[in-house]
Amino acid sequence: MLHYVLCTMRVNRRLICAACLAITTPLFVFSQEQTLKVINKPAQHKHLVRADSMQKMVALDKFVPGIIIELQYATAKNFTGVQLYPPAKTTFVRLPVARALAAVQQQLATMGLGLKVWDAYRPHSTTKEMWDLIKDERYVANPAKGSGHNRGIAVDVTLIDLRSGEELDMGTPFDHFTEAAHHNYKGLTAAQQEARTLLKNVMEQNGFRALATEWWHYSWPDGAKYEVLDLSFNQLARLAN
Ligand SMILES: [Zn+2]
Repeated sequence: MLHYVLCTMRVNRRLICAACLAITTPLFVFSQEQTLKVINKPAQHKHLVRADSMQKMVALDKFVPGIIIELQYATAKNFTGVQLYPPAKTTFVRLPVARALAAVQQQLATMGLGLKVWDAYRPHSTTKEMWDLIKDERYVANPAKGSGHNRGIAVDVTLIDLRSGEELDMGTPFDHFTEAAHHNYKGLTAAQQEARTLLKNVMEQNGFRALATEWWHYSWPDGAKYEVLDLSFNQLARLAN
């Protein structure tokens, strides 16, 4: 008890020692969960878009001509083994992200290449479902924090050859959680390395940020400006029109 009182005093003074961390950490996680704002009604989203048009969620197939969308979580053929999304022909991202992806697609077309999207927007309730299945922050986002996918600012992409429609060999498939998926992995062939570097360069030139541990994941900066959403694909399709 004495330790707890001292600990509380130290926390109030913002002096957290290692011994206190064991007590304070669960409290911190709890408060983070309490304060995460989740937009789960179309009217709330409309209100935000009226105040700032950059918040709009747009359908990627309409915004980025020729982009290939194959949502891996709309089938059971993903690392969870569970179909997490309803069958969907398109997916959604915030307006500035869609604009940047359109620029990426244009730039790639000059090289005979294009984008394939494996995942983009993910409802917050799906992140919770994934967490219940896996419960490991190395592989799935902790729903208490909300992810870039929940905010409509993250995409999982690869490159395709426009003529054949085939994916370029990137060295690993999507959601391959070993060091071979890291950007600094040294065991790739020259062609695999070149393909990964090309994707990274074009995405970064258009404002995206790479993730060190997943070559396919890119996010838009200033994620905190965009609220976590828990709207269904159907609700977003209606809002995007
Ligand atoms: Zn991702």
